Amino acid sequence: MALTGTKTFKNFIGGEWVDAGSGETFESVSPATGDVLGQFPRSSAEDVDRAVAAARAAWEEWRLVPAPERGTILYRFANLLIENKDDLTDLMTREMGKVKAEAGGDVQEAIDMTLYMAGEGRRMFGQTTPSELRDKFMMSVRMPIGVVGAITPWNFPIAIPSWKLAPALVCGNTIVFKPAEDTPLLAERFVELLQEAGLPNGVVNIVHGFGEDAGEALVRHPDVPVITFTGSRETGVRVTHTAADQLKIVHLELGGKNGIIVLDDADLDLAVEGIVWSAFGTSGQRCTAASRVIVQDGAYEELQSRLVAAAERLRLGYGWDDDTDVGPVINKAALEKIHSYTEIGKDEGAKLLTGGEVASGNGFDKGNFYRPTVFGDVDPQMRIAQEEIFGPTTALIRVRDADEAIRVSNGIKYGLSSSIYTRDVNKAFRAMRDLAAGITYINAGTIGAEVHLPFGGTKDTGNGHREAGQAALDVFTEWKSIYVDYSGKLQKAQIDNLKPGA
Ligand code: ADP
Repeated sequence: MALTGTKTFKNFIGGEWVDAGSGETFESVSPATGDVLGQFPRSSAEDVDRAVAAARAAWEEWRLVPAPERGTILYRFANLLIENKDDLTDLMTREMGKVKAEAGGDVQEAIDMTLYMAGEGRRMFGQTTPSELRDKFMMSVRMPIGVVGAITPWNFPIAIPSWKLAPALVCGNTIVFKPAEDTPLLAERFVELLQEAGLPNGVVNIVHGFGEDAGEALVRHPDVPVITFTGSRETGVRVTHTAADQLKIVHLELGGKNGIIVLDDADLDLAVEGIVWSAFGTSGQRCTAASRVIVQDGAYEELQSRLVAAAERLRLGYGWDDDTDVGPVINKAALEKIHSYTEIGKDEGAKLLTGGEVASGNGFDKGNFYRPTVFGDVDPQMRIAQEEIFGPTTALIRVRDADEAIRVSNGIKYGLSSSIYTRDVNKAFRAMRDLAAGITYINAGTIGAEVHLPFGGTKDTGNGHREAGQAALDVFTEWKSIYVDYSGKLQKAQIDNLKPGA
């Protein structure tokens, strides 16, 4: 696939492809090769204003389209994703860098999410409940809210936009989408396919650009009542502050510092496989990645040696090559940040067991490749055990028993994913109850969420909202309670009804 080139892409506003008002552009660069994949408009508040105006105008009609009809458009979109899955997968290995199997999984997740949400068009259940008064009917219905501002990161360039756009659309909202500046080409393909599926003009608009100008302008815009954001904790806090004055609905999906617990009775082969997949899959660039492995004393030595051996067998390379296990990290800044944590870990006294270096030679110099890294003898309070590194680095922590394991697992500011390997059903159930996280896996690693259960975390991972499943509808609709009195007379709730015992 010849992707290298200087093609200039555009924003999509009100059904038209347009340049940024300023005419400025930025490049999308492959993390694997350094090749430029295209130029994209560097949008500013002026472009965001135009997009929001288009989305606001389109909303007046879109909110009246029956939800099953909105769902039908999403079914068509899912089919287009299926037809284009191979191309999107290949493009993702080039623009984002993840390996082919995972890139295919990313697209598949968008297909699954879109199909699930398309079906919501014929559900979107509310409640009916008996009135306390005669000849009176009551129900609650979900109402669309208006223009949704969707701000996404680069690590799931097709899946995450689908988590936000599919539910927002089926619920009857219109969208201004500001994708990550590292993966604009995939976002652009996503919107092209959505449009091809038959969305009316203005229902979905894409505004490319950087967080501090286009992103911030979207969060600040008075005609955007809902912001759905996935990214770093730091930016999430900033978004919250910016949106606070206008009391916007802000949905945040932020960081993680997820731990896998391995108890003495665990199946170690299974555990090692799960750790490798969770720590080094997507080069550790998942918010659910396992960057801590909390191991009970009796299993520690054996697990450590098996894990190091497994990490050293991983083949670093280009995502599009079939035999690559671990691809590049997203950009030079990420590479530097990941390496700085290796230095921090060494300075803190953790034992570097393998990796810990930027890969060179073999064509690696043009891309951003970091060797899978394992630290041993890590104290739970060390920075490498507390802060999100977002790279292929994991930290082994030794504990005495299951209770200490859970305390250590919970002893971080985030609360996204968690996991325990044990064959003791009692310990497994205690962990399900006591692990302070939005997601807990038993005898599986920290990654692998499916689209029909809520996704999100406790503590600093977010602000109480969830994506995916039914829970997503709570972000993109507001409840309306409706009372219909067909008695033909004034009836007063709490006053005219029969009192118990009267
Ligand atoms: P990451 O570390 O994953 O790049 P960021 O939080 O920096 O996380 O970025 C996630 C998304 O948020 C990107 O689309 C980025 O452009 C956007 N963004 C960054 N800063 C802001 C901001 N101040 N306001 C709104 N969006 C922002």
